[in-house]
Amino acid sequence: MKCPLCGCVSFYIKDPDDEYETYEFAWRDGNVEFSADVDQDSCPELCDDTEIFCDQCSWHGETQALKDAAS
Ligand SMILES: [Zn+2]
Repeated sequence: MKCPLCGCVSFYIKDPDDEYETYEFAWRDGNVEFSADVDQDSCPELCDDTEIFCDQCSWHGETQALKDAAS
């Protein structure tokens, strides 16, 4: 999956408890790969209704919207 606007595969999600805390990840072969500096123990779970943000442009939306765009 990739960004419907710019084609980038790098995204991030925001901590629901702290909007300034972000967790970066990339889609690789359909799998979510978090950056090496992301603490996976404190990272929120990525669900279909999780809002994700493109790392390269202003696109953001729910994970499900990206899946729909990819299919
Ligand atoms: Zn983008």
